[in-house]
Amino acid sequence: MKTIAILSGKGGTGKTTLAASLARLAGEKALADCDVEAPNLHILLQGKLLEKKEYRGAQTALIDEDLCRQCGLCREACRFQAISAGYQVIPFRCEGCGVCSLVCPHGAAHLETVKTGDTYVHETGEGLFSHALLDIGAEGSGKLVTEVRRIIQPYIQTEKLFFIDGSPGIGCVVIASLTGCDAAILVTEPTLSGKSDLLRVLDLADHFSIPAVVCINRFDVNLELTAEIEAYCRQARVPVLGKIPFDSRVVEGLRNYKTPLEMEGSTAAAAIRGFWENMQKYLQNEEEGE
Ligand code: SF4
Ligand code: SF4
Repeated sequence: MKTIAILSGKGGTGKTTLAASLARLAGEKALADCDVEAPNLHILLQGKLLEKKEYRGAQTALIDEDLCRQCGLCREACRFQAISAGYQVIPFRCEGCGVCSLVCPHGAAHLETVKTGDTYVHETGEGLFSHALLDIGAEGSGKLVTEVRRIIQPYIQTEKLFFIDGSPGIGCVVIASLTGCDAAILVTEPTLSGKSDLLRVLDLADHFSIPAVVCINRFDVNLELTAEIEAYCRQARVPVLGKIPFDSRVVEGLRNYKTPLEMEGSTAAAAIRGFWENMQKYLQNEEEGE
């Protein structure tokens, strides 16, 4: 099975729309929404729930009232002002650093792992799909991304492709999405920030020796910048396998929980199909070159 990350240096480039469309076009595939802090693929991909699991991804301090002698040492040592005057932990301030448990001479402070969200596996019309939903105020992490990638594995049987819809940026959650992938699809747009963030995520893929291809979304809103991105990619020997035009039907479709492929007459849909054909040839060539 080939694992393909779909990434973008910045948010709002249309990465998830492309991921949902590829899920429709590709046969025998599974899909994981690893954009754990802002997941939305589950809005487009509905199906039968196969598994739901609590995710315990953070630590928080607890003070045992019976053991606490109110000496104040923990309060002095806590750099996040997370311990109240009454020696109770303020959950939203506690960073789980554990200093209070180290300085407490009476064993009254300790750390506990707490629930920060839930992970899910669904059987959808587009195949197996895993994602996570964080609780309010909880933070995403590379560990959670790894968990979303892991929970789907026992269900995978004949799937030949595994798409990972990653987070924007180049941080820990993106690295966890990219790790071990056979290829990365980098979705960008012709804006200055789109170009700058593409270069950063290209560097990241290069750092981990993961072959990357580029898809330029809404390429026709700034042809000059599109040409600059293409020139850069040519020079860096990164194939640009697709250019998707601006298409108001895409927004109209999303408003109705539909991908561009389900929107009759969508020019974006035709370009996405073209991109996927190129991507399949690319994967084939990569395989033959191995
Ligand atoms: S250091 Fe321990 S005993 Fe002292 S106030 Fe904190 S929890 Fe209580
Ligand atoms: S774990 Fe760290 S942040 Fe939380 S209360 Fe203890 S010292 Fe403060």
